Amino acid sequence: MTITGEMLIGARSHRGSDGEFRAVDPATGAELEPAFGGGGVAEVERACALAWAAFDAFRETGLEARAAFLETIAANILDLGDALILRAMAESGLPRPRLEGERGRTVGQLRLFAQTVREGGWLEARIDPAQPERKPLPRPDVRQRHIPLGPVAVFGASNFPLAFSVAGGDTASALAAGCPVVVKGHSAHPGTSELVGRAIQAAVASCGLPEGVFSLLFGVGNPIGTALVTDPRIKAVGFTGSRGGGLALMAAAARRPEPIPVYAEMSSINPVFLMPAALAARAEALGKGFVASLTMGAGQFCTNPGILLGIDGPDLDRFVAVAVEALGGSAASTMLTPAIRAAYDSGVARLSGSAAVATLARGLACSGPNQAQAALFGTTADAFLADPALQDEVFGAASLLIRCPDAAAMRTVAERLEGQLTVTVQMEPADGDAVAALLPTLERKAGRILANGWPTGVEVCHAMVHGGPFPATSDSRTTSVGTLAIRRFLRPVCYQDIPAALLPEALRDGNPLDLWRRIDGVPGQE
Ligand code: NAP
Repeated sequence: MTITGEMLIGARSHRGSDGEFRAVDPATGAELEPAFGGGGVAEVERACALAWAAFDAFRETGLEARAAFLETIAANILDLGDALILRAMAESGLPRPRLEGERGRTVGQLRLFAQTVREGGWLEARIDPAQPERKPLPRPDVRQRHIPLGPVAVFGASNFPLAFSVAGGDTASALAAGCPVVVKGHSAHPGTSELVGRAIQAAVASCGLPEGVFSLLFGVGNPIGTALVTDPRIKAVGFTGSRGGGLALMAAAARRPEPIPVYAEMSSINPVFLMPAALAARAEALGKGFVASLTMGAGQFCTNPGILLGIDGPDLDRFVAVAVEALGGSAASTMLTPAIRAAYDSGVARLSGSAAVATLARGLACSGPNQAQAALFGTTADAFLADPALQDEVFGAASLLIRCPDAAAMRTVAERLEGQLTVTVQMEPADGDAVAALLPTLERKAGRILANGWPTGVEVCHAMVHGGPFPATSDSRTTSVGTLAIRRFLRPVCYQDIPAALLPEALRDGNPLDLWRRIDGVPGQE
């Protein structure tokens, strides 16, 4: 399939005329063909009008039809074959195995949402039958189901050009909920975005859905994103990226005459607690495991372990010695974009320039454009507590080790942390009491708590939470990975004494959709 540099607005391809940009191969610094035409307010207007026109028809598609649509998107993405992988490699600098794995995850997540749609539990149908004889007042017939919010704006992430981008988790969960989607493609991987966008556009057509169910816009600079978020027909936003970008879009959404929810995943440093018995038992293995997790994918994961906490002593010294050696031998690796590499360098310079921070190790020197050297820094609990800037995210393979005098200091630091996507505890059974004392704090801080693993690598499943208190995300009540992500784009509607013929199928007597429903408080399939 040829990449044209056009936006996809409903069924049409459209060349934008508000500026031009090209993707850059971060491994060589070379610009890639073709040029992409940026869109403006007119394109946002057209895509949102189509999305709104499609909404009522799309949200009433049957469960089977909607599931088949998601599966068709997955099949069409696979049909793109190696052209998709080659373009994503050129635009991101990420290696083939990583992108093939990411394609598998993207397709798998679309199929998982198809299963979820079919099963119908997300409708959360509830029926409290009328009790006309109830005293002192009769009870009305009260029924509830969830409906989709409306068209959703999705901002793809730079660091997952497939799994968190055009057909990523935000798009899959919004479409599963019955929301049309308008994607603002990330300017770092527009060719990958166009290919995947065309796969979705073809699925919309072959499944006989209204064209406005999906559009893909490109733009130069921030105006197009702001115009999209402030369009009155957009009813929710999914975003993964920088704290600054997320905050700007949250502010734009809150300023609207009708404010809307923004589900932004922004910034997390994913603390790892090295408990004393774990350090005593396996300091060396922990040192190696930590460096492997930190440097994977040039550290460009939102779940990258950005700080470590341990109690000062010889076992922590053993951990540091191994980590310093492993990190010192780690090759420099290509980052996603020149801007992300520049942000990494300035974050590393900020830490290495701090009087309270020691540079413990740097990775091997860079040998090509846009490469970054891994970095490990050290500080004390007191210094960390005295300088809130030490917990700012440095996106990339940089981490800060905090030496704590005792378990109480570890808990004090934990208490001072901002909200996180993950916290990890490295522990042995003998650490049980200390971890039990930490857990209430960790639950308040993070969306996912892991024991004896590393935070990079997020399973796409029903129980996953990829979310957490601010600034990890803008809304700690949700997740952007896993089937629960569908809830972000739904709201409950209650039907009181509505005549049977007017009720949605999900709430009719006899349970025609064979749903799991809660009848008079009792779960079942009546
Ligand atoms: P970004 O700069 O926040 O961009 C994400 C998307 O939002 C892009 O489509 C961008 O448009 C758009 N955007 C950003 N600021 C905007 C604004 N003020 N108004 C309207 N639209 C806006 O993120 P990035 O390019 O992926 O990476 C930059 C930094 O984000 C990294 O250095 C890292 O700190 C952080 N990051 C965090 C995560 C995470 O998961 N926590 C993931 C990736 C990146 P353009 O395409 O035109 O730039």
